[in-house]
Amino acid sequence: SLSDRLGGVFDRLRGRGALTEADVRGAMREVRIALLEADVALPVARAFVDKVTEAAVGQNVLRSVTPGQQVVKIVNDALVEMLGSDSADLDIDVTPPAVVMMVGLQGSGKTTTTAKLSRLVKKRGKKVLMASLDVNRPAAQEQLAVLGTQAEVATLPIVQGQQPVDIARRALQSAKLQGFDVVMLDTAGRLHVDQALMDEMKAVADIAKPNEILLVVDSLTGQDAVNVATNFSQQVPLTGVVLTRMDGDARGGAALSMRAVTGKPIKFAGVGEKLDAIEPFHPSRVAGRILGMGDVVSLVERAAEAIQADDAEKMASRLAKGQFDMNDLRSQLAQMRRMGGLGALAGMIPGMKKAQAAMAASNMDDRILLRMDAMIGSMTVKERARPELLNAKRKIRVAKGSGTTVQDVNKLLKMHQEMATAMKRIKKMGGIKGLAAMLG
Ligand code: GDP
Ligand code: MG
Repeated sequence: SLSDRLGGVFDRLRGRGALTEADVRGAMREVRIALLEADVALPVARAFVDKVTEAAVGQNVLRSVTPGQQVVKIVNDALVEMLGSDSADLDIDVTPPAVVMMVGLQGSGKTTTTAKLSRLVKKRGKKVLMASLDVNRPAAQEQLAVLGTQAEVATLPIVQGQQPVDIARRALQSAKLQGFDVVMLDTAGRLHVDQALMDEMKAVADIAKPNEILLVVDSLTGQDAVNVATNFSQQVPLTGVVLTRMDGDARGGAALSMRAVTGKPIKFAGVGEKLDAIEPFHPSRVAGRILGMGDVVSLVERAAEAIQADDAEKMASRLAKGQFDMNDLRSQLAQMRRMGGLGALAGMIPGMKKAQAAMAASNMDDRILLRMDAMIGSMTVKERARPELLNAKRKIRVAKGSGTTVQDVNKLLKMHQEMATAMKRIKKMGGIKGLAAMLG
């Protein structure tokens, strides 16, 4: 993945005392290849690399004390800037009804996203009406109606035989008559961009005068997504982008291209099939993922939902200091159980992948979480705070006390070591500055 590639590149840079210019150029070549492999559009990758190279040279990285860190920071800043430096919200605080129109290819997630966003907006106290203008696909309008029932959001009654423009007109009329604040228009997609689709969209936009036209793009579609974005943004005045399937593997690449090609903010990220699986798009988080720092902010936020706020703050400030002892591991294990087991945290902490691979290799499953908890329970207070105290004799005692083996204890210590190293790495890279403040 892009994260792994860039992580590898910078890990190598980080190990150096001093960088030669060839190192920087070499690293940037790899960055470019990694971006291309992650389906970032060629011109976007080129522009990005040029920008970063220029910034690196300008800042005299070659003579700095910690060149690797400096390059990582420059790349990070460039990524955040390119992704859009702030998270953007829906622009719907207008004289009602505000109109939000979703456009995009078939299967990109328009209908799902329409329901997700409607649910969000409704939760903020607005009266929302959804309408499906998809008369191409059989049962498309019913699909939205079903989602409406699930999301407890009103949908426009279906009238067979109406054209999209007529449905849009009817939706606006109903909204005005019944006092809806927001009308969400879900449009039809096509397998490929074609003129009939574009004409239909333009006609609807003329009638509905949307406050928002959101392009919904599947983040897994790669290079093709860039062509789609180019086409749509040339034909309709987009106001933003929603990237779906960000719960999948392709993180970062599509986001980078979308932003560069459309020039519009990525407003939301779809992170699953369920109706609550949508998040505001956070450029700094995605940049962090791309750089292989893991998504520490998301991790802590999710942990905060599962544990008490006090604990979360304590954990955040410990993480910020790069501290991670057996007590921290123990509360992490408890959270893992609460947050749905080992799989749920994959990729969220740098170094976790390694730790998980180690566990997978030894045929461990989620039951291991309970056994690890038992092992930590058998340690003394001192041992928990300073695991390096665990010599052979103490390990035998812990194994006996927890009904495990010394081998198991060693595996636990190895996992702790991986995670502690990861925490130190985050700290060094300054990746979670302001984390505690964000939680408070
Ligand atoms: P449309 O043709 O653009 O209206 O696409 P749909 O909304 O019908 O979505 C197509 C499929 O993608 C459905 O099975 C959705 O559940 C799924 N989907 C949509 N958004 C996401 C997402 O963010 N993550 C995942 N994993 N699946 C999604
Ligand atoms: Mg649809």
